[in-house]
Amino acid sequence: MNENNIIVRNPHGVIDILPQTHEYFTYIKKVVRHRCRQAGFRRISPPMLEYKDVFQKTHGQHDDILNRLFTCTDGQQEAFSLKPESVSGIIRCFIEHEMNTWPQPVELFFIEPALFHPETQTHLKTKKNALSQYNEFGTVVLGEDDPALFAQLIQLAHKVLQDLGLEALYRLQINNLGCPECLPKFLADFQGFYCGKERALCERCKNFLADNPLRILECREEDCKILLELAPKLDPYLCKECTSYHGEFLEYLDEMALVYEKNIRLIPEMNFYNRTVFSYVNDSGERVCGGGRMDGIVENLGGPKNVPVFSFTMIIEKIINAMKQEKIHVPSKDDVHIFVAQLGKEAKKKCLTLMDQLREEGIKTVGALGKGSMREQIDIATKFNVPYMIIMGLTEVRENKAIIRNMKLGQQRIIPLSDVIFEVKKVIGEKKLDKYSPGEILY
Ligand SMILES: [Zn+2]
Ligand SMILES: [Zn+2]
Repeated sequence: MNENNIIVRNPHGVIDILPQTHEYFTYIKKVVRHRCRQAGFRRISPPMLEYKDVFQKTHGQHDDILNRLFTCTDGQQEAFSLKPESVSGIIRCFIEHEMNTWPQPVELFFIEPALFHPETQTHLKTKKNALSQYNEFGTVVLGEDDPALFAQLIQLAHKVLQDLGLEALYRLQINNLGCPECLPKFLADFQGFYCGKERALCERCKNFLADNPLRILECREEDCKILLELAPKLDPYLCKECTSYHGEFLEYLDEMALVYEKNIRLIPEMNFYNRTVFSYVNDSGERVCGGGRMDGIVENLGGPKNVPVFSFTMIIEKIINAMKQEKIHVPSKDDVHIFVAQLGKEAKKKCLTLMDQLREEGIKTVGALGKGSMREQIDIATKFNVPYMIIMGLTEVRENKAIIRNMKLGQQRIIPLSDVIFEVKKVIGEKKLDKYSPGEILY
């Protein structure tokens, strides 16, 4: 607590991304951008705010996420929500910007923050460590129905996990959830089976039974699992189209040597996925990636009919946790090359110009301009763990020279001030310089 008795902490569920973690973010984003661009995907960013109606229409009225939206109004009638995921906003973009007139398929990727309320107001308990703010990346493919394209999308997710060094940690699981043609018949029989047996179900499943019965499939309570064994299975209800699409899709996965397992209890976290769905899960059943087809989603939001859509998303925070647990280190972009130390006002003046020149050349430079003694400055340089130090005192200023010190070897030599940049570049190495060019693709 501070002196005003105000507790200084961030709100429950939101996160501070500190510099050490940002190194992971930078690295992951780089991998994602590289893999997506390589596959011809283009980046899109829907805004943080959408009309609440957008999420209601894309998720369907029974998705628990709708009870967890941060919602506000414009002071009159319109209700807005902060996005709990980015896919809905992208579907809205597709309709609003008439992307159906673009060359098809439209292949998009996103790296975005998202937010929802951690305390659910319904029957679901907050999951332990559930985040209300998180960052996700993902892809959306619209306008082309080929199962080969969908298989290719999974290959992209796989390559990202591979690049991050995590592919051995997660298994690809596939399920077929049927379509509006075949699913309702199954759901009717499935709900009918539980009629009179409700008391044997856990509270969670009891609450899902009427509105969202598929969620019963994923329950881990022993009693629910036993009952589920006896319940009707979805497979025999699947229509010809669902079966043939799924079969062809699996053939493509085999062709690409993507190892998968069928999991008839795999239910996506978001309600808008249907038919063929997939997840990457670890041994504890935690999923890092989820995706699937999203038939009808464009039409539900008021867009053109029969636009095929499939997508996946990954939660960046989950990936970072996994990388840290696996002790996967990422190259640090924050490492400093040079520490500039000075003694006396005249030296400080010279160093201001020198530091600017070094930085312009792509040499990551810090100095402790506010500190007085050389001892203090060397202590700071040690904390930064810099490989080299430039030192200027009264003598060096007078003679137009500087000292370059190799911190590891503890050796130093005097060089002309005009040679400093050349010498530093030589010891750091041209490849390690942090060069920025506006022409470079940075998005
Ligand atoms: Zn079907
Ligand atoms: Zn249950």
